[in-house]
Amino acid sequence: MIDPLVKSFEPYRVVEGNYRIRLDKNENPYDLPDWVKEEMFEELRELSLNRYPHVTSMPAREAIADFYGLSPENVAVGNGGDELIGHLVRLFRGNHVVVTPPTFGMYTFYARLNGFPLVEVPLREDFTLDGGAVAERSKNAKVIFIASPNNPTGNLQPEEEIIEVLETGKPVVLDEAYAEFAGKSLWRLIEEYPNLVVLRTFSKAFGLAGVRAGYFLAGEEVVEALYRIKSPFSVGVMTMAAVGVVLRHPALMEKRVAKIIEERERIRRKFGEFTYPSDANFLLMRLNAHGFLLKRGIVVRKLAGRLEGHIRVTVGRRWENDELIRALKDYLEAEGCG
Ligand code: PMP
Repeated sequence: MIDPLVKSFEPYRVVEGNYRIRLDKNENPYDLPDWVKEEMFEELRELSLNRYPHVTSMPAREAIADFYGLSPENVAVGNGGDELIGHLVRLFRGNHVVVTPPTFGMYTFYARLNGFPLVEVPLREDFTLDGGAVAERSKNAKVIFIASPNNPTGNLQPEEEIIEVLETGKPVVLDEAYAEFAGKSLWRLIEEYPNLVVLRTFSKAFGLAGVRAGYFLAGEEVVEALYRIKSPFSVGVMTMAAVGVVLRHPALMEKRVAKIIEERERIRRKFGEFTYPSDANFLLMRLNAHGFLLKRGIVVRKLAGRLEGHIRVTVGRRWENDELIRALKDYLEAEGCG
């Protein structure tokens, strides 16, 4: 009864259970303060929950457009960045989807789900993008996905390599889910490159992972095309209200980002030998410590393939990071590297 293609997928699994410290999903460790939630409740009071949300999410697109000084025609909003990735694999003409492993798994997931061939152009040894190699393999590409900062390696990709890919004229999705932590974004290039789609999310720096809101910035033609195929009501009125409120408080977001960066560097200094530099809110570590940490009540992401024996650790609150540091020191000692 079930399509064999569907059977070929593994269900999305995360470590469930009551662990004390969750550093596995690159979430913001700080919930929004009560005064911000109160503002959201005030907005909700005014909403008609019996009515469907705006069909192309105009209230949220206007708020985001104002934030960037763009037109809402350059903004598309989805139920998390993931929903938009699901559409972006289908939007463009061409044969295959290009990805640059090791990178975010959802590009491959949605390409396979749609039955599109995949072309993998691995990142270099140091995890930088090989723009020339990507361009070379993209002659017949539908779309090219590049994450910068990349997940799970944490590094920003060099601008000149990205430009080299953009110069092919093929559609490029530049996934900047973690850009606020890097303090650098190439979103302004959408004015120069109509083939550029810059994907962003409210799940990380803005701390709204539970709300589900993502967006992309792109030329009008791409935004218009997206709204031809997107589920009409996937972004609810409560989501749009929450987005409007957090965008009114960028200083709060920036303060938290600064704190997370400070903590990130504190952890990195302790384990420099085993830790890659990061431009995001997580660290890639060459430590096979997933099982050890789990026993201490700390969940991190276990990596596989080229990153076998590595873990990805989300930066948490200070006390959580303290516990992580203590546990990793014990791990190294037990391994004889302490
Ligand atoms: N892109 C990257 C690189 C990510 O790591 C994530 C979240 N894990 C997303 C996009 C999508 O996030 P969301 O669906 O929560 O907006």
